[in-house]
Amino acid sequence: MKRILLLFVATFLSACAPPPDPAGITFVHLNDTYRVGAVEDGNAGGFSRVVTLVRELQDEGRDVRILHGGDFLYPSLESQLWNGLQIVDAFNFMDAVAPLYAVSGNHEFDRRGPEQLIAAVRASEFDWLGDNYTFRTGAADVDEALNRAFTFEAAGRKVGVFALLLHPDDGGNERDYLAYDDDYLVVAEDTIKALEAKGVDLVIGVTHLHMWQDVELAKLKAKYPKLAFIVGGHEHEPEHSPGSDTAAVVVKGASNARIVWAIDVDFDEAEPVRISERKVVLDRSVAFDPEYEVLADKWRARLLEKFPFLEARVGTAAVPMDSREVTVRNKESNWGNFIADQMRGAFRDGTADLAFINGGTLRIDDFIEGDILFEDIGRTFGFSSYLRKTTLTGGEFRTVLEAGYRGAGPSKGYFPQVSGFRVCVDRNRDSGDRIVSLQVPLEEGWQEIVADKEYSLVVPDYLYRGGDGYDVPKERPATPPGSELKYLVLDGILAAQAKGEQIGAPVDPTNPRFEQLSEDNERCFDN
Ligand SMILES: [Zn+2]
Repeated sequence: MKRILLLFVATFLSACAPPPDPAGITFVHLNDTYRVGAVEDGNAGGFSRVVTLVRELQDEGRDVRILHGGDFLYPSLESQLWNGLQIVDAFNFMDAVAPLYAVSGNHEFDRRGPEQLIAAVRASEFDWLGDNYTFRTGAADVDEALNRAFTFEAAGRKVGVFALLLHPDDGGNERDYLAYDDDYLVVAEDTIKALEAKGVDLVIGVTHLHMWQDVELAKLKAKYPKLAFIVGGHEHEPEHSPGSDTAAVVVKGASNARIVWAIDVDFDEAEPVRISERKVVLDRSVAFDPEYEVLADKWRARLLEKFPFLEARVGTAAVPMDSREVTVRNKESNWGNFIADQMRGAFRDGTADLAFINGGTLRIDDFIEGDILFEDIGRTFGFSSYLRKTTLTGGEFRTVLEAGYRGAGPSKGYFPQVSGFRVCVDRNRDSGDRIVSLQVPLEEGWQEIVADKEYSLVVPDYLYRGGDGYDVPKERPATPPGSELKYLVLDGILAAQAKGEQIGAPVDPTNPRFEQLSEDNERCFDN
C-alpha cells in the first residue's frame, strides 16, 4: 500500500512537475554586437538566435547566464540616432530571459561627453561590470551603477566576477567621464581576493582586452584555482585558449553573435567544478525567437520612420561585395577595394598614388548583392570618417603599413584595405618586418616601391592621427580633414548609376592587392 502510494506520488509529481532543478550553470557568452537584428542578410548571428539558444538550454534544466564582453552601444547606423539605446532595449529583453552581465568595451565611450552614457546606463536593466575603471559622469546614480567585485547566485552557487576594460594605452578611449586603474594583473588579483573573501564558489573574468592579455591573466588560475574561465571581447572572430591546472579557459565569440560560446559549469561532491566550453554557430539552423522579433520589428519601423529613404536603391553591384567582418579584417575585400579606390580621388588636385583604410571602419558585416541600397552605405560607415591627403616616401610608407600586419590571430580591425599598390606579407616573420614586397603599378607591370621617392597618400583622419597603431609621418604638409568617406562612396556609386554602369569587381586571385605567404604559396606575386 505504502509502495503504491509512493509510486502514485512519484508519477503525479513527474506528470505535473516544473522543470527539474537546474543541474548546473551554462554561461552563454557574446561580445562585440552592434545590430538589433541578424547579419549576412539575416542568415547569421543576432540576439534573436541567442534568445532561442538560451531558452533551449533552460528547457534542458540549465541555469543560464548571459555574459557580454563589451562593445555594443556604438558604432552603428542606429547608434547615430539613438546612441545605443536600441541595444540597451535588446539587452533588457535578454536580461529578462536570463540575467545578463556586461563589461564596457572601448566603444561604449565613443561619445566625447557623458550624456549618452548616462542615458544608456539609466535605461539598463542588466548589470554593468567594471573593476579597473570607474564612471565619473557626475550623475551619482550612474557612477554607482557600475558593479565592482560583482557576485551573483546561480544553480545554488555563488559566482564572483572580475571585469576589465582596455586601457587607453592599449587602444581604449580616454574620456573626462572615465577613470582607469592601469595594471590589469594587480586589479584582477585584488578583485579575486575580494571575491574569495565574500565566499564565492567560483570566479570568472569578463573582459574587453587583447587576447594575449587575457591569456596572461588566465595564468592566475595557478594561484587561484577557483578561477574557472575568462570570456573576452574586442577581437571579432572566435578565440580559444584551452584550460589546464595552471591556466583558465579563455574564449571570445564572433562579432554580432555569429558565433557564441556556451560554457557549462557543473558541480558535484567529488569534483566541485567541471567546466566544458563549446562554440555555437548561430546560423540559419537556429530559429528566431518570435517574442524578440517583435522588438526587432519595432526598431526597424523606427529606423524607417527616421530614414524613409533607407531602402532606396542607389546603384547596382556587378558582383556580390563581400563586406563581412571576417573578410574586411583579414584579407582583400572587393567592397574594401572599391572604397579605397574612391579614396584616392577624394581631393581635387589629382588622384593620389596610394590609399588605405582600416577594415574596422567598415561595419556592415554583410554581403552587398545586386541592388545597392542607401542602407548599405549607412551601415558600412557606422561613424563619420573624414579623409586627409599627405605625402611620404616609399620607405616611410612601408614602415607605416607594417602596422597593418602585426600581431597574431584572426580579425584585426587595423587590417588595411588598399588601393594604388599591392603588398605581400609573411606572417611567420616578426611584427614590424613582415612586408616581403610592396609594389606600385607602372604603365605596364609593377615595381617595388622606391624608398626615397615621394608618394601622395589618402587615409582617414583617424589613421593620420595615429589610430590603430599607424604612425603616419607629420613633417610634410597635409590637408585638413576633408571629404567625408560615406558621401564620397555614395557619390562614386551614383556617378556609375548615372552612366548606367554597375560597380565592383571580384577579387582577382591572379592579381591580388594582398597576398600572404604560406607553405603552398612561397613566392610573392606570379606576375
Ligand atoms: Zn573593442
